[in-house]
Amino acid sequence: MSMKLSDLGEFGLIDRIRKASDRNAKRAPIGIGDDAAALLLSPSSALLATTDMLIEGVHFDLRTTDLYSLGWKAAAVNLSDIAAMGGLPRFCLTALGIPPSLTVEDIGEFYRGVTACLKKFETVLVGGDTCSSKKGFVISVTALGEVVRQRIVTRSGARPGDRIYVTGTLGDSGAGLELLRSAECGVRSKKPECRKLKEKHLKPFPRVAEGRKLALSGLASAMIDVSDGLSSDLGHLCAQSRVGAEVLVEQIPLSKELRSAKALKQPPLAYALSGGEDYELLFTVPPGKIKKLKAMRIAATEIGIITRDRSMRLIDEHGQGRPLTATGYDHFRYGRRRGSVR
Ligand code: ADP
Ligand code: MG
Repeated sequence: MSMKLSDLGEFGLIDRIRKASDRNAKRAPIGIGDDAAALLLSPSSALLATTDMLIEGVHFDLRTTDLYSLGWKAAAVNLSDIAAMGGLPRFCLTALGIPPSLTVEDIGEFYRGVTACLKKFETVLVGGDTCSSKKGFVISVTALGEVVRQRIVTRSGARPGDRIYVTGTLGDSGAGLELLRSAECGVRSKKPECRKLKEKHLKPFPRVAEGRKLALSGLASAMIDVSDGLSSDLGHLCAQSRVGAEVLVEQIPLSKELRSAKALKQPPLAYALSGGEDYELLFTVPPGKIKKLKAMRIAATEIGIITRDRSMRLIDEHGQGRPLTATGYDHFRYGRRRGSVR
């Protein structure tokens, strides 16, 4: 009998593709399995390459996003993967499948968003592809960046005793999406208390400067961007590093807007753990380098510690632990669809 994708899951499938692929480790020191691939251009410099798709009805709903924001986000999520390797984004390609429902003005608006994001991060659009789509807007963006070979920060370098940090705040994007879909705080609502969360969902800001500083200073032992939710992305980092983690619930940075939002169905922590799409950087720092990290004044919060024991645990304010299981987004599992109609 053939196996269902829902049994294998998104990450099981990627693992199969990786095992079946034939990588030349000399030319591509990092291939499938990190935020971006690292391809050697010379002994000292590497090209970073990453691609992410956004599909209407799966990743976004044109009833809850405007096209400018969608363009910004399509670029931003790719730059975030370059940032997560400690790289500097340089070039970008965009490929579109355009449904009959979109107008020339719509595509113009989409590219105004793409361009605004790329300009902010000094990245140049150099190519792509344009096709028609029978149904639904399909967006594929590829970002290319550069990094000094010896400074690449992978997902696999975390060691027991390293401290875990995250930039910014977590959960805002997931909560923002729920607000965008709600009657009280929906797309057209101008309520100031909903604005920041919705904005964080619609126009994430990739942490390029932070990723770069962390890489160049050699402080981060491992790094990943939070695209699927803290529980899942910390899970990826731990799995690749062959370690576990203890996360202190009270330390997880939650914005005051998330803490005080009234219209949400779940407690703030749930959005931080499994909401996803925050595009913050999650990274680890060996204990001996923490002083130097503090002196760098990067806006990041210490949330826990890497353990030898390969499980992930969440520690509450009384010191009680419980398992932290990956509950973030998986395209084939849980039947959950981000940004979609449901
Ligand atoms: P991210 O969330 O950082 O974009 P993903 O979870 O999408 O990363 O992908 C994990 C890794 O698997 C990445 O290295 C990505 O390039 C690789 N990958 C995902 N899908 C495929 C595929 N169909 N073929 C080859 N590599 C893939
Ligand atoms: Mg990533």
